[in-house]
Amino acid sequence: MRKFILSFLIISLILPLLISTAFANSEMDQQQIYEERMLLYKNAETVTHIPWYYFAAVDQYERSLRRSRKDLPKAEGLIAIYFKPEIWSGTLNPDTEDTNPLSISIFGGLGLDGNGDGIADRNNDEDVLYTMANYLSRYGYDHENLKIALWDYYQRDKTVEIILGKVKIYKAYNTLDLDKNAFPVPLRFNYSYKNTWGDARGWGGRRIHEGTDIFAGYGTPVRSTGYGIVEIKGWNKYGGWRVGIRDINNTYHYFAHLNGFAKDLKEGQIVEPGMIIGSVGSSGYGPPGTSGKFPPHLHYGMYKDNGYTEWSFDPFPHLKKWERAERRKKK
Ligand SMILES: [Zn+2]
Repeated sequence: MRKFILSFLIISLILPLLISTAFANSEMDQQQIYEERMLLYKNAETVTHIPWYYFAAVDQYERSLRRSRKDLPKAEGLIAIYFKPEIWSGTLNPDTEDTNPLSISIFGGLGLDGNGDGIADRNNDEDVLYTMANYLSRYGYDHENLKIALWDYYQRDKTVEIILGKVKIYKAYNTLDLDKNAFPVPLRFNYSYKNTWGDARGWGGRRIHEGTDIFAGYGTPVRSTGYGIVEIKGWNKYGGWRVGIRDINNTYHYFAHLNGFAKDLKEGQIVEPGMIIGSVGSSGYGPPGTSGKFPPHLHYGMYKDNGYTEWSFDPFPHLKKWERAERRKKK
């Protein structure tokens, strides 16, 4: 018995210590990654005169893309920009894995040697970033020309819009460390929610319920859950007064049935975690202004963009995580 108590004591005393050190380490590693990544962006800025946050935005867009897509290989280095082999080496190049800058350029490939080792390696951070930087700089280094460069490269309005949103955010905060989140309702207010993902019917307005309903009284503040750009603000027949925010990971956060919006909130604006964007209401299911057809609640949805399309995923686990993290911080 004593042995049991002793080992129990050891586990209960040492385990949390080990876990917290491991946690601190991973936090530190992430900071180091941000620092090293920033150095790469700043170097590219020095060479091309394109502000670093354009590289950060493209890189972060592609990082999120690779996390959400199975047809793209996992990003292993500090830079996540992905070049298809034939784009890197040139479409007519018989060697799709060519690393010779000369033959790559003869075949019209984009791949360049960024670190001066004579090899254009599409798995090397510096080569990859330099190649993208060089592509963009062909158009110039001011905002309007970079916008055209991005459109020519991605050929998709949504992608350009998402990347330019990130440009704005990185420029404003001057850091890559934008991982903080907040629960959409202040914890001191009365609210309740449960996992209703995929329920046949809710007040979200789609065939299946694409989100979580957080029930709370009229006027309860609704807050942004992360750093992002207000993509949509206005009326929707089903969602009522609603706000859509695109975060730094290409995720779209949808807040519906609001009572009203925060003063001065406008499309294109930057928001940060915890910033009040509106308040809980029961608007929706009718022409603009319709309200009171169901109990007041916040409908909260999350949608991921994968470069082609957007799909909804269950916000419930994220809500739980953010709520727990805030509770912990308060203690
Ligand atoms: Zn709902």
